[in-house]
Amino acid sequence: LPEQEAFDIEYWLLEEAKLQRMPKPKSLAGRVALVTGGAGGIGAATADRYLSEGACVVLADIDQTALGATLDNLAGRYSKDVVRTVTMDVTDEAGVAAAYAFAAVEYGGSDILVSNAGIASSAPVEETTLELWNKNMSILSTGYFLVSREAFKLFRAQGMGGSVVFVASKNGLAASPNASAYCTAKASEIHLARCLALEGAEAGIRVNVVNPDAVLRGSKIWEGDWLEQRASTYGTDKEGLEEMYRNRSMLKRSVLPEDIAEAAYFLASDKSAKSTGNIINVDAGNVQAFTR
Ligand code: NAD
Repeated sequence: LPEQEAFDIEYWLLEEAKLQRMPKPKSLAGRVALVTGGAGGIGAATADRYLSEGACVVLADIDQTALGATLDNLAGRYSKDVVRTVTMDVTDEAGVAAAYAFAAVEYGGSDILVSNAGIASSAPVEETTLELWNKNMSILSTGYFLVSREAFKLFRAQGMGGSVVFVASKNGLAASPNASAYCTAKASEIHLARCLALEGAEAGIRVNVVNPDAVLRGSKIWEGDWLEQRASTYGTDKEGLEEMYRNRSMLKRSVLPEDIAEAAYFLASDKSAKSTGNIINVDAGNVQAFTR
């Protein structure tokens, strides 16, 4: 190479190396996310992922003690200025509105909603009481409606679009034995997301869904009734269930809260700017495997 050309190349390589070393701007800087069920396994992992990308997060959950523990955990790694907690029941209209008012006072608004708060409780259909059916419908289906409605009001008033991420379930697409109430409620969340995607599109409000397969580690759902019901349906214990879900997936891998958080991050961020009304199944290939 002529001397000047070699010098130029070296110069630009050094400049490039300098650029690589400079801190990258965080992709959710300036964004504010309200995460329902933020004290639980998937919600807390999602909040953590958003914080790592520079967002401020409001953790909204019915369980005040768990909120405190999650806050302590996050406070060890992020500034206390970027996380807030609010005790809220997603089935309580006034409580949901108050949580949004709290986010407005603390951070001047919010432009990401992760609707994730949930329970899992089910039984064979003949043993499904109206109370059990209504419990699933009210926390899952109605709860997702109430938080989305409040988010839509705020996002429209702010006039800057927004992103809504539903954490639904693989069971909203595929039937699971002895779980009709839960599966039906989850299916309604998925269809609600499609309807809201259509309603919000003109205002730049995107609505998408993450469908987890069974996430046994870190989830409180798998410590209560649901564990007992699944264990009795499949005739095995927690370890056996995890192995079963892993084995019937195409990839033969267990799904973790962090895997759901990564998809929820993609859907909240501008990386998915052209996606709305869509679903990401984070299931290691289980839904499409036909191995049940
Ligand atoms: P989790 O129990 O660890 O977390 C759920 C959180 O929701 C808890 O902190 C709980 O206090 C909160 N919550 C429950 N009822 C509420 C209410 N009425 N108002 C406000 N908060 C409430 O469970 P997770 O595994 O993190 O589940 C999160 C979401 O993922 C749920 O919607 C669940 O249905 C869905 N999901 C979980 C799995 C799984 O296997 N863990 C699989 C598919 C879908």
